[in-house]
Amino acid sequence: MAFDIEMIKAVYARIPQRVAAARKAVGRPLTLTEKILYAHLTEGPASQAYDRGKSYVDFQPDRVAMQDATAQMALLQFMQAGRDQVAVPSTVHCDHLIQAEVGAEKDLNKAKEKNREVYDFLASVSNKYGIGFWKPGAGIIHQVVLENYAFPGGMMIGTDSHTPNAGGLGMIAIGVGGADACDVMAGLPWELKFPKLIGVKLTGKMSGWTSAKDVILKVAGILTVKGGTGAIVEYFGEGARSLSATGKGTICNMGAEIGATTSIFGYDEKSAAYLQGTGRADIAEMAKGIAEHLTGDEEVYANPEQYFDQLIEINLSELEPHVNGPFTPDLAWPISKFAAAVKENGWPAKLDVGLIGSCTNSSYEDISRAASLAQQAVDKKLTAKSEYTITPGSEQVRFTVERDGFLDTFGQMGGVVLANACGPCIGQWARHGAEKQEKNSIITSFNRNFAKRADGNPNTHAFVASPEIVTALAIAGDLTFNPITDTLTNDEGQQVKLDEPKGLELPTKGFAVEDAGYQAPAEDGSKVDVIVDPQSDRLQLLASFPAWEGTDLKDLKLLIKAKGKCTTDHISMAGPWLKYRGHLDNISNNMLIGAVNAYNDSTNRVKNQLTGEYGEVPATQRHYKAAGIGSIVVGDENYGEGSSREHAAMEPRFLGVRAILVKSFARIHETNLKKQGMLALTFANPADYDLIQENDTIDILGLTEFAPGKQLQVVFHHADGSKDTIAVNHTYNEGQIEWFKAGSALNLIKAAAN
Ligand code: SF4
Repeated sequence: MAFDIEMIKAVYARIPQRVAAARKAVGRPLTLTEKILYAHLTEGPASQAYDRGKSYVDFQPDRVAMQDATAQMALLQFMQAGRDQVAVPSTVHCDHLIQAEVGAEKDLNKAKEKNREVYDFLASVSNKYGIGFWKPGAGIIHQVVLENYAFPGGMMIGTDSHTPNAGGLGMIAIGVGGADACDVMAGLPWELKFPKLIGVKLTGKMSGWTSAKDVILKVAGILTVKGGTGAIVEYFGEGARSLSATGKGTICNMGAEIGATTSIFGYDEKSAAYLQGTGRADIAEMAKGIAEHLTGDEEVYANPEQYFDQLIEINLSELEPHVNGPFTPDLAWPISKFAAAVKENGWPAKLDVGLIGSCTNSSYEDISRAASLAQQAVDKKLTAKSEYTITPGSEQVRFTVERDGFLDTFGQMGGVVLANACGPCIGQWARHGAEKQEKNSIITSFNRNFAKRADGNPNTHAFVASPEIVTALAIAGDLTFNPITDTLTNDEGQQVKLDEPKGLELPTKGFAVEDAGYQAPAEDGSKVDVIVDPQSDRLQLLASFPAWEGTDLKDLKLLIKAKGKCTTDHISMAGPWLKYRGHLDNISNNMLIGAVNAYNDSTNRVKNQLTGEYGEVPATQRHYKAAGIGSIVVGDENYGEGSSREHAAMEPRFLGVRAILVKSFARIHETNLKKQGMLALTFANPADYDLIQENDTIDILGLTEFAPGKQLQVVFHHADGSKDTIAVNHTYNEGQIEWFKAGSALNLIKAAAN
C-alpha cells in the first residue's frame, strides 16, 4: 500500500504548517478537530477563521471507502468522469449483501451466488480504476478500514453512516452519499458546513463490567438522536487516553446515532500500540513525529468550556454498564435501573437472542472479553438460555480469535459464528419465525435498534449494549438479570455468579490471517473490462446526460406539484428499491412515488396532460419523455431533506424533468441536483407557489444569460389562455452554471480529462 504511505507523508508534512497558519487565522489555541479540518482545506493555508455551523468550506479528503450497496452508483458515476485512476486512495468492501441464516460458510457461499453480478462488477471496476477491493467475507467496512487504512490526522469520506468509526484512530471520517464519493475520487473538492464542536471530557478509568460502549450509550442518553447534528464530537482527557484504539472506534462509530457529523479522539500511546499491532509501525513512528498536532492544544483541554460549543463530562470510574432501547438507541438505562424499566414498561423479559459483533463491537478486545464470559458459562455449568450469534468484524479478527480458541469457547456455549459481514445489523437476517411478528426481545452489541431493523418484525424489542452485557444476558436468557449483583442457577442447581469479564486489547501472539480477502487493483487498468451483464436488472452502465441545448426551455409540462414534506425518501424510496440502486432505469420507477400531489392529496397519482388521465408519477414522466416533452416538479419548503441520496437527483434528470422549482431546498439535495445538470430554482415570492395550476404549460426564460445572482423568469401558461410570469432565484455560481451547460458536473470533468 505504497500509495497510502506517500499520501500519509504528504499529509504529515502539511499538518504542522497548516496548524500554525490556522492558529494565526483563528487567533487562539485550537481543538484537534479544527487542526485536522484546517489541514485539509482545498485552498492553501488557512487564511481565515470559519463560522462554525455557518460557513461552507471546501475540503480535500485523503481517502474514500465504499460499501457494496452504495458503491454501485458511486462507481457507475465515476466511470463517467473520464479518469484512468481514482484521485485518492479508495476501497470497496463487500459486507452489506450477505444474509445471515445458518452460519458463516453456507451463508457466504449463498451470497456469492445471489450477488454474483454485483460482486463481479465491483471487483472489475475496482481493478480498472486503482481501487482496493475487499471480497465478500473479508469483513465489515469500518473494522477493515480501522485495521488497514485509518491514520491519525487524516480525513476520509465513506459511503456509509458509520464511517466515523475511524475517529477512534484520530481521523476525521464522515459518512456521505455516493455522489460525494464520486467527486472526491474524480479529484473534485468536497464541501462541508464548518461544524460546531461538542467536547466530551473523560476523567477516571473504567473497570469491571464497564466498557467503551457504555461511554457512547451514556452520551446518546444525554444528547439524544438529534443532539450531535451539525457537530463533531471531540473526546479528550485522561479517561480518553486510557481507552484502547478499538474502544475509541466503538464510541466514534455510534456517534452516528446522535446525528454527529463525526467523532474523534487524539493520537496517544493506545493509537501507537494499535498501529504497531496491525502492522503499521511506520505510520506510528511518523505520527509520533508530529504528535503535538494530532491532539488539541493544552489550553483548550485546560479550559474546554471556552473552546467548545457544548461540553459534557463523564467520569469513567463511576460509569455503569448501560442497556439502551428498545426501538431507539438514545433511551439509556444504567444496568442497575434496567430490570425495573423492563418490568414497568411490560417489555418481554425473556431474551430470545443475543448478538455480538458488527462494525461497532467486533475487535479482538470485544471478542476476548465476551469469550471470557462464555468460558465461565462452560466452567460453571451454565447452559445459555438464549440463542447467541457472533459476527466477527474482519477475517483478520476472525482468524486470530479462532487461533486463540475463542470461537471454540463460543461454540461450547452454543453460539453460532456468522459471516464477517453486516448480517442481522442491516436486516440481512433470515430469522426463522420473524414473519409471525410475535412480541419478543433481542439484545445486540450493534449500534441501531430501530423497529424492524434486524429481523423485519415490528414487535421485536431490540436493545443495545456492550458485547459483555449481551453475553451475560444471553447466558441468563433474561433481560432483568444484572450480572454485577445477581446469581444464576446452574445445571446442578447451584447458585453461581459471573465474574467480571477479562480480555486483551491486542493479541499477545499478534494478529494472523491466511487470506484477508483483499484484491489489489491492476497496476495498469487500461486493459481491464468492467463486467456488467446487459441483461442485468440490478446494474446498468450510465450514459452521459445531454448537454444544455443552449436555449430557453419552453412548453414544459407540470409533472407534480408536491405538497408538504418531500424528503429524499419521498423522491426515491428505500426498502425494496435498494436492490436497484445500481440500475438507474429500474430504480427510476420509484421517482416521487411518495410525494403528495397538491391537487388531489394522493401519492403517486398525477394528471398526464397528454392523455388527461391520472397515473403513476414515473409512468407519466416516461410518457412525456417518450413524446420529447420536458417537465418541471414544483415543491414546498425544505425540498429534498433527509439522507444525501444521489438517486433522488439522478432519477428526475434521467426521466427528463428539466427543473425543480420549490419554496426552499435542503442544501445537499440542491447541490446534488446541480451536479446532475438540473435546474434547481426557488420562488422569489413563495406565495407564487399558489399560482401554478394542474394543466399548466411552463417556460423558463433567461437561460442564455444565466449568471450568478441573476433571477430567471418562469411563465405559467394556464389552460384558460391566461398566464402568470414570475421571478425565480437560484444559487448557482460560475462553476455550477458550467455544470448545467455541460449537462452534469461529471460531463465537465470528463471534458477536462480528454
Ligand atoms: S455492521 Fe451494521 S452499522 Fe456496521 S456497517 Fe454494517 S450495517 Fe452498518
